[in-house]
Amino acid sequence: MDLKKHRSIAIDGPSGAGKSTLARRLARELEFRYVDTGAIYRTMALAALRAGVDPSDGAAVADLLPGLRISLDYGGDGLQRMYLNGEDVTEAIRRNEVSAGASKAAAIPAVRAFLLDTQRNLAEEHDVIMDGRDIGTVVLPDADVKIFLTASPEARAERRWRELLERGQSADRAQILKEVIERDARDSGRASAPLKQAEDAVLADTTDLDFEGSFRLLLDIIRERLGGKAE
Ligand code: C5P
Repeated sequence: MDLKKHRSIAIDGPSGAGKSTLARRLARELEFRYVDTGAIYRTMALAALRAGVDPSDGAAVADLLPGLRISLDYGGDGLQRMYLNGEDVTEAIRRNEVSAGASKAAAIPAVRAFLLDTQRNLAEEHDVIMDGRDIGTVVLPDADVKIFLTASPEARAERRWRELLERGQSADRAQILKEVIERDARDSGRASAPLKQAEDAVLADTTDLDFEGSFRLLLDIIRERLGGKAE
């Protein structure tokens, strides 16, 4: 028997595949709430960096957890804002050094356990489209639609590079490709909730698609899976 009150869409995949931009637009289209779980891990990493703790040091990061308050809310614009001990860190977590820290902290089982309920509770309260690495496999194994969104490392590095430039941050393309490959290896190779396609997820490869093409592809997959419920 299906006791879920709300519908959920899980989008997993490597960094730079376009998950967040696509999920945000899909959420608007479908009137679902967009939950960016990467932002939650980024906030965790920022907490470690600010405390002078190496985000890959499992014991030291675990020691920080009891003293941390990581919360989020959604403004009238529907956008997710992140708070660390009450301070709005929505912009601060987008910096490039936080990206690397997030994938290190995310490999720590205690961190994943600490953040699990926050993610699951959001899906109990609303119709959600949630993106991350383990949403379809671990966080929402009963999601109504699961999509594994990917693109080649080169295409993803190129998108990340453009995004950083648009934010006014200087960025070296070759370095970004190297970081993308390193993060992929960390995200897929970790023992705790590694990035992998759920058995019942639909694979969507956007290497050769622009934003509009990717959006249409995902919308078709979702509408087909949700049936009349998506209208
Ligand atoms: O998606 P984003 O790049 O913002 O995520 C930052 C990092 O957080 C990822 O590289 C990944 O290691 C981690 N993450 C995760 N599980 C999620 C979401 C993000 O491990 N559900």
